[in-house]
Amino acid sequence: MPTVTILTTGYEVLRGFTANTNATWLARRATESGARVVGMRTVGDSLAELTRGLEESLAEAACVLVTGGLGPTEDDRTREALAKVAGVPLVDDPRAWEMVRVHFERSKRAPSPTQRRQGLVPRGFEALPNEQGTAPGITGRVGDRRVFLLPGPPREMTAMFEREVLPRWKQDGGFDEAAARVLWTAGVPESEIAAPIETEMRADEPTVGTHPDDGEVAVRILARGGGAAARADALRDGIARRLGPHVVSTVEHERVQHAVVGLLKDRGLVITTAESITGGLVSRMLVEVAGASTVFRGGHVTYSDEWKSRVLGVPEALIARDGAVSESVAIAMADRARELGRADVAVSTTGYAGPSANPGEVPGPVFVAVSSRFAPTYAVRFFAAVPRLAVQRRAAVLALDQVRRLLIRA
Ligand code: ATP
Repeated sequence: MPTVTILTTGYEVLRGFTANTNATWLARRATESGARVVGMRTVGDSLAELTRGLEESLAEAACVLVTGGLGPTEDDRTREALAKVAGVPLVDDPRAWEMVRVHFERSKRAPSPTQRRQGLVPRGFEALPNEQGTAPGITGRVGDRRVFLLPGPPREMTAMFEREVLPRWKQDGGFDEAAARVLWTAGVPESEIAAPIETEMRADEPTVGTHPDDGEVAVRILARGGGAAARADALRDGIARRLGPHVVSTVEHERVQHAVVGLLKDRGLVITTAESITGGLVSRMLVEVAGASTVFRGGHVTYSDEWKSRVLGVPEALIARDGAVSESVAIAMADRARELGRADVAVSTTGYAGPSANPGEVPGPVFVAVSSRFAPTYAVRFFAAVPRLAVQRRAAVLALDQVRRLLIRA
């Protein structure tokens, strides 16, 4: 299995002002592609630090992935550091300059004189086209090591990795087969997801791990070696059977909202919302899904008691008797929203997101209610000792997950 190390550069990353998403993204894609990540380091923008970072990286892995410092300004010195470490001069590269020129032509702008730096490449190295920005990438060898320099902006970096880096790197050979699979689950805590798959989680090959993400939990499978894809698929299918209705999707970018929109579309049903604690987040998640307009026409955000009664028509007496954060008000909100929206399904949220004035007090309760043509309206409740935004996100996930569970039963 080829070894790889990741070198991210720049003071804003080194000092913590920019989250180092490039390192985690590259590590994950390298792993999924069948490489073994043996190191990660971050250095500042100075030539001395970049040179040291490159030397240390080259000493530890067959391939070095570097991001950042390919811009046109004086403090973009990654090319220079690579030339120094490789012991070759930086030379004008007509292909690299052509890439820069074409990019400017497309955006109908003229390159500044400093842009010339982006046409420089260490002698014997190759420029890599950048579909998303100006800075060409660079690749080549230092001794028996392969090096790739990628731009810092994540969108440019990820596109270049997929299109230019991965095919060349794989051509170098030595890659093991590898296959990564995911199962997204929602509505139950990590411990409940992990319990039935404990044996699989203890195995060394394939590896299985659970990763919570505010109301959803990913189960990640990584198989390496011969027959990886078939083994990963079999394991995923086995786990999916065991976890049953908790599984929302087996596609990386499809989450609970995609499952809900898919189920509604399949049945030609329409949903609406009445949101208090989530302030529109449930609606926002629904419209993330392409084609949501066929199942979602609109919803209500009724944050104050007054709006709950005046706009939705929840009886003032009910709010006065039980409080706005109560099972009965959640149910009334969902029922009224469904009536007003002439929808097949309505979901409501109400609750305390915190933080509380009393230290240590857990935010909540949060109530989520579902009203539908298929079952009597009901509400579920939770408490969560997490920050305000996380409480709101969990409430939205729970609301959508309750709709999903109702639809698969109905
Ligand atoms: P540019 O052509 O924009 O100058 P560059 O290759 O010189 O690209 P940098 O100047 O190092 O890249 O970084 C540009 C931007 O990319 C940074 O301001 C930051 O927003 C983002 N970025 C850089 N490194 C990382 C990283 N490790 N993780 C996430 N984002 C990053």
